[in-house]
Amino acid sequence: MELSLNIRCALAQLAGKLSKYIIKLGRGMGKSFPGYIYLKIGKKECVSKLTSNLDIGSILITGTNGKTTTTKIIALLLGNDTDIIYNYESNTINAIITSLLDGNADLGVFEYGIRDIKHAIPDTVSRIIGPAGVVYTNVSREHSQIGGVKNPFEKYLKAKQLLSQPMKKGIVISNADDPRTAYIGKSKEEDVGVSYYGLDIDMEDKTPITGDIFCPVCNENLTYSKRYLNHRGIYECSCGFSRPDPNLKFTQLKAGKDRWQVKIEGEVFNYPTGKSIKLDFPVDVPSFGVHNLYNLLCAAITYVTFTPQPKRIEKTTQEIFNSLDLSILPPGRFEIFKVNGNKLVGMGQGDNGDALKANIQFMQTYAGDEIAEQTGFIYTTPDEDEEEIFEDHFSSIISFNPRIVHVVPGRESVDAAQKYYEIIKEKLPADFYPLSHEDMEKRIGKISELVKESQYSYVIVSGCGPEQYMWGNLKSSCKSQQNR
Ligand SMILES: [Zn+2]
Repeated sequence: MELSLNIRCALAQLAGKLSKYIIKLGRGMGKSFPGYIYLKIGKKECVSKLTSNLDIGSILITGTNGKTTTTKIIALLLGNDTDIIYNYESNTINAIITSLLDGNADLGVFEYGIRDIKHAIPDTVSRIIGPAGVVYTNVSREHSQIGGVKNPFEKYLKAKQLLSQPMKKGIVISNADDPRTAYIGKSKEEDVGVSYYGLDIDMEDKTPITGDIFCPVCNENLTYSKRYLNHRGIYECSCGFSRPDPNLKFTQLKAGKDRWQVKIEGEVFNYPTGKSIKLDFPVDVPSFGVHNLYNLLCAAITYVTFTPQPKRIEKTTQEIFNSLDLSILPPGRFEIFKVNGNKLVGMGQGDNGDALKANIQFMQTYAGDEIAEQTGFIYTTPDEDEEEIFEDHFSSIISFNPRIVHVVPGRESVDAAQKYYEIIKEKLPADFYPLSHEDMEKRIGKISELVKESQYSYVIVSGCGPEQYMWGNLKSSCKSQQNR
């Protein structure tokens, strides 16, 4: 019995590795095909053998925003102290197994994106991989419809929860400031160790919250005493549910133009040594917004929890954070740069309500709270059946109150964009440009022109749109005008 299993796993390994070399694969496919072959032949039992090659185990990172950035920073931190294998932008079990085929290491660090239960298999993935850690960034409303099927928020939250549900050992790492991830953490406290992270800084989100934030326990409205970024903050409910005390915090934020200084404080359980570690030291990070501060803090606590070399924590964290720059962020990231000498432009993806709001907040942190009166806003809309994303976007734009909103389709449907425009123009001065998805060059050309010819000192361009195809190319196009 054991022999035949060994043979099957060896075969699966061979086939998986061979498929890496034999087939000339595109980048996306190459990340998952060998894993697909391995799982097909070897089944779950062989994957368990693969994962047992990792001395400490695997860490899975999930959430709505910031997964890729967080995973990359975790890999930099842990990779500085020990041998790791890692994979980001992977959304399937096959992609994770493909990485596992790379061989022996102390730790595996894997991003795992979950949109809904139907298209992902979070609890199955958790059972197959047997993670030592599941890490939650945050949970916000996003794609409310996938493949033509409504995906209510409760199901979406449940899908995220399922990734840690089968865990019997290891550590769950949760954002204390996000009531949804805090709820998932609290529900695991009886089974495994749970570590929380949260902010303790002066900066505050004064704009109204987008959408109602219900208590995940009793469905009543949550009361906030402070909000750092939309629904992330310090909250409580009459039922007793409240923000957990963070094990690791960022405190004493000093926000400069290019770099921010912040202190790391807390006491965190270190999984490889089984010891609690006290931390209290300053770090220096790029100034890239509160949303990225959360990504950094999430990466820091994951690193502290899983490094086999706790003595190196302070030095490694300071060195890696010091060396970070904006290139760690994805191509669609929100960036601030100058066009035509003195016009300040903030441009980048804001695919859901939280992300767009974070972009506005970042622009305000950078240029001042009062900029709205001198700002033109170019809004790239969501698609058909994404009304919930639009509602969240709309409330952020209204509360910001720019001088004009230029509405451009961000995704495929021009009709949907027009429909959203009709709603916007009831409340704010607006105009509409029905530019198709197919002729992206034209769309990018028009947006660049709007930026260049805007009569305002500040321009924000944000909303939905494909990462590289639209945002990456649009940013290059506008930056090429920088010195003209
Ligand atoms: Zn409640």
